[in-house]
Amino acid sequence: MSAKLAGGLLAARATGAVLRRAGRGGTSLPGKILTRVEPHAIGRLAARLERGSVVISATNGKTTTAAMVSAIMRRTGATLVHNRAGANMAGGVAAALAGAARRGGRELDGDLGLFEVDEFWLGTVVEELEPRAMLLGNLFRDQLDRYGELETIADRWAGIVAARDPATTLVLNADDPVIADLGRMTLPVYYGVDDDALALPELQHASDSKHCRRCGHAYVYDAAYLAHLGHYRCPNCGQHRPGPSVRATAVELRGISASAFTLHAEGGERRIELPLPGLYNVYNALAAAALTLSLGAGLDDVAAGLAAVEPAFGRAETLDLGGRPTSILLVKNPAGANEVLRTLALEGEQLDLFGVLNDRTADGRDISWVWDADWEVIAPHVRRMTCSGTRAAELALRLKYAGVDAGRLDVVEDIETGLDRALAEGDGGRAGPLYVVPTYTALLELRDLLTRRGQVEAYWR
Ligand SMILES: [Zn+2]
Repeated sequence: MSAKLAGGLLAARATGAVLRRAGRGGTSLPGKILTRVEPHAIGRLAARLERGSVVISATNGKTTTAAMVSAIMRRTGATLVHNRAGANMAGGVAAALAGAARRGGRELDGDLGLFEVDEFWLGTVVEELEPRAMLLGNLFRDQLDRYGELETIADRWAGIVAARDPATTLVLNADDPVIADLGRMTLPVYYGVDDDALALPELQHASDSKHCRRCGHAYVYDAAYLAHLGHYRCPNCGQHRPGPSVRATAVELRGISASAFTLHAEGGERRIELPLPGLYNVYNALAAAALTLSLGAGLDDVAAGLAAVEPAFGRAETLDLGGRPTSILLVKNPAGANEVLRTLALEGEQLDLFGVLNDRTADGRDISWVWDADWEVIAPHVRRMTCSGTRAAELALRLKYAGVDAGRLDVVEDIETGLDRALAEGDGGRAGPLYVVPTYTALLELRDLLTRRGQVEAYWR
């Protein structure tokens, strides 16, 4: 065992202890320190995982999909080493492994590594981990000023897929043309949705990938389900959606609280009851099912794990804020926002909303995506919407353009004041539900605020 690794672990542990004493437990700094001392710490520690490791990447749904995989794999007896939600760069992966290391890295608490990895960091992490399986879920336009075009990431991912150990199982979304094409030269496990009743009349504004990856011709969609996800084909070169071996049919969306679908796989089929809303979560569940089945989980474990999964903070869980049921739904890009808005539109006739739009670095300074999201879908349902955050006025302007009467909109930049106003107004004080749609940094501010006020202890794990 290398002295460098043992030394790096000591330094990481000491840093973690200092941060915890300062009340700042949640950073990937210990991981960064570890990889500074031992650049191959991730690979060396991960080599101790008896069941190997799996990696999940996507623009949308990484955290929820990882939570689902965790719920399923625990039922199979696996003990997981799992990075914290959002700590999904190399430092976060290293920090998770460091946290599980014992005896200078000679032993690990846990036998299966489960890592959600940022799109941009995938290559670095995969090179070190040599994962057993790699799940690639979707690519949407996100934070353009940080990452550049979607095609750049797609090209980078194609390189990662080509360079991977051939023993690594690839699990790919057949319904995303960019993702599906990554499987061109190999034999991946494909998953996808087969449900004509869900098809949208036409591609949404936010569709990112309308042109054939191979010849550049526009795709024809026989069914578009969610942004550019669906059943597509290229009339020019013949490229088409591959037939998935793991499929969802008979999808049932039950407003903001739940959904269900029939899961078809090689071993049979099961009706899946999901305590999470929206088609995007059906995709996350299908991805988790395809990945865990490829790891040897049985269909009963998949169904039971998915039925028991709990929403992560800001991914549609409901809190009680002073007697008012409050649901928080993170929005961070047009495709994700459209799914949240569609889900909300199913929820009821008249909605009270609290929207928080920030343009801090982690949100991407460019918030022009707000104009691409289909707020028109909920415009007829807005009874009251309070807009907060650094770009509160722009959010209100977008809603006005979507057709919401100015008298129903309230602009309060400060989040805490805005939240209290939103809680007090709307449904005539009758304690009806409030729906909160924050961007990423707004979600973190909200979580800190609610923690400070003692309103989220039960949910904050
Ligand atoms: Zn083509």
